Amino acid sequence: MDPQEKTVQISGKIPRYEDYALCTHCGLCLNHCPTYRLWKLEADSPRGRIRQMILVDQGKIEAGDVFVKHIDQCLVCRACETACPAGVGYGALVDHARARIEVDYRRPLATRIARNLVYKRLLPFPRRIAAVARLVWLYQRSGLQWFARKSGVLRLLGQAGREKLLPRVDDRFFFDQLGKVFPAQGPRRARVALFAGCVAQVTFAQLNEATIRVLTANGCEVVLPQGQLCCGALAAHAGVREVARDLARKNLAAFAAGEFDAVVTNAAGCGSTLKEYENLFSEQEPEHAQALAFRKKMRDVTEFLAGLGLAAPLKAFPLRVTYQDSCHLLHGQKVKDAPRELLRAIPGVEFVELPYGEICCGSAGVYNVTQTEASLELLAEKMQYAAQTKAQVIVTANPGCLLQLRAGAELHGTGQEVLHVVELLDRALR
Ligand code: SF4
Ligand code: SF4
Repeated sequence: MDPQEKTVQISGKIPRYEDYALCTHCGLCLNHCPTYRLWKLEADSPRGRIRQMILVDQGKIEAGDVFVKHIDQCLVCRACETACPAGVGYGALVDHARARIEVDYRRPLATRIARNLVYKRLLPFPRRIAAVARLVWLYQRSGLQWFARKSGVLRLLGQAGREKLLPRVDDRFFFDQLGKVFPAQGPRRARVALFAGCVAQVTFAQLNEATIRVLTANGCEVVLPQGQLCCGALAAHAGVREVARDLARKNLAAFAAGEFDAVVTNAAGCGSTLKEYENLFSEQEPEHAQALAFRKKMRDVTEFLAGLGLAAPLKAFPLRVTYQDSCHLLHGQKVKDAPRELLRAIPGVEFVELPYGEICCGSAGVYNVTQTEASLELLAEKMQYAAQTKAQVIVTANPGCLLQLRAGAELHGTGQEVLHVVELLDRALR
């Protein structure tokens, strides 16, 4: 049966049978897949997951507990895409499988409530994000967090590891910066719009500010368009497609309103989804063509800066630095060299490659919350390799990876600082 026949109720682009059939079962992706490396189970490999998707679409197996477990356990890191010689577009297939699960499968009540709250009632609404962030800020600054950690309550509840992954909420949020324009320093070389993120606006305001400083110092006028919202990546990867589509429509409208040389993001996970908005719409929908046009403008900040060329003078910064690839930058957007070029451009930086830096750190959106045990196992291995590099700083290119690696440095006592590429550039500017 053609998968199209079973998927009429899922909106957007539906994979064709040929998309699955590209997989020749060669197995070259297996050792690149973090979950296969962890468990050595075919059902938790890219090849095994694709096989299950085909069987579900053909009605030969049910989209039941077993299928859902193996699809949920996928990080959507897309390392299998990079490894695959046949060009299997695994990311779109797994997103579709999750959209099918959302339609066909009834998750436990508590999970349904949590998913409904996060994907439908929280992430699309900046004010609600700010309200929740204020509560978390209170927990973190009032001494309650300190007490919960010291008293052993978190350990008793089995939440000690997960709680460490909670992002530190900023003292000031970034939302009030939307609508502003930051002029270029010196002659203007480009006019760019900055995609500011959603949770990043309450947990990574300083990263956004550093991004603006680096861009303006390099001759870019930076515009922060009003009306921009969460990119929808988390909803799209969770299969909550209607929410992702709605957010995509609003972001396409917000960024279409201005004349920009590029739309820039410092969040590789968001960038990957923003560059692939067309997957959320069928070719007949007008948003499909808008998304394709938008894609031409969309750039990761490292990709944009490396392409533009650094113009601002950088001071010497004697540091040993290693780099963890963000999966959605390397495997999703195929950007490998740009962040490395930028790091090497900082005088005094000694760059050392991180062994297995292309393997996911275990962050993967909300994976560290939903699959905490696997996430922490991947993180433990990552920190072992990071420690071996003897780098003082681990650099990466995505807020989710920053959080995970910062938690890793603390949990494993490596004493390494974790920074975004633009944060290091920003320090070298000042
Ligand atoms: S490498 Fe590609 S073709 Fe080979 S098994 Fe993996 S997904 Fe299939
Ligand atoms: S996306 Fe990552 S975890 Fe999922 S099958 Fe591919 S390599 Fe494995």
